[in-house]
Amino acid sequence: MLIVMKPDATQADVERVLEVIEHLGFKAHSMPGANRTAIGITGNKGAVDPTHFENLNGVADAIRVTKPYKLISKELRPEKSIIKVGNAEIGGSELAMIAGPCAVETVEQVFTVAEAVAKSGAKFFRGGAFKPRTSPYAFQGKGEDGLKILAEVRDQYGLNIVTEAMDERGVDLVEKYGDCIQIGARNMQNFSLLKYVGKTRKPVLLKRGMSATLDEFLLAAEYIMAEGNYDVILCERGIRTFDTHARNTMDVSIVPAVKRISHLPIIIDPSHASGHNYMVNPLARAGVAVGADGLIIEVHPCPEEALCDGAQAQTLAQYEELYQQVKAIHEILAKEEMAIATG
Ligand code: PEP
Ligand code: MN
Repeated sequence: MLIVMKPDATQADVERVLEVIEHLGFKAHSMPGANRTAIGITGNKGAVDPTHFENLNGVADAIRVTKPYKLISKELRPEKSIIKVGNAEIGGSELAMIAGPCAVETVEQVFTVAEAVAKSGAKFFRGGAFKPRTSPYAFQGKGEDGLKILAEVRDQYGLNIVTEAMDERGVDLVEKYGDCIQIGARNMQNFSLLKYVGKTRKPVLLKRGMSATLDEFLLAAEYIMAEGNYDVILCERGIRTFDTHARNTMDVSIVPAVKRISHLPIIIDPSHASGHNYMVNPLARAGVAVGADGLIIEVHPCPEEALCDGAQAQTLAQYEELYQQVKAIHEILAKEEMAIATG
């Protein structure tokens, strides 16, 4: 059930609706919008009786939601969500650039990349301190020591830190040191972890699972929002298909598909989608052209020495070239008002 308030409903009207929802034993999710507030109801087992709401002041409509998702949907919030991450935003008119190494390796490696991407105009820095590696013998990340290096990057360059958490302890640590909690592809359906990040008040970058459907992806976001954390940014990072020329297959169609259904921003990760240095730039351009709200790009000062994902890392010079190109595409789209593919 979705309660749509009248444009002239007062704060007291909204609060009365919230009270009634809580009194019925359900959870209320208030989403103020540009023209009206909508209130999502979760926690109900069957249909909610709309007559509880029809006589309340300020209520325009009580709508049954037939889709499996409620809070991610444009029915609840017709306008795009702009998510505040640290001192910057994702989902607004500016293209969000999240750049940095796959993994935090050394202070020097991290600071070299941070200085270059900050100078080039990136507002967000990535770097994994907890690495989900296929092999248990591969480099697993520097843990809390890595997060401390990332926190220094924020202090020195003003970059907002996006970094992965793989479990609840990791979430607590990323909350302490970072600005945005990344949930990786392998954890997209780790429902207890999704509920846990849903209880934090840090924005979440949710990566699409490597074989997740659109509905599964959106429902994973719904898990986080149902706990009360509405600051979710979706990320397409390629899905597993049959061919081997790329590490994964970047699904550009997910961007307009998401924008048709959801108010949440979606960014693209052409690094993990391709796995190859030479493919990252063209796929980044495609991602921006299709209407993505931002990009997450792996950058390393010396890719051949990287402890993780060196084959896809951009050099500092390649990153700068990529950024100039995608910025030009984004500016054309913005000028022509084509940036938002609403379907
Ligand atoms: C990453 O961004 O470091 C990462 C591990 O990505 P994914 O979860 O998409 O594989
Ligand atoms: Mn990586």
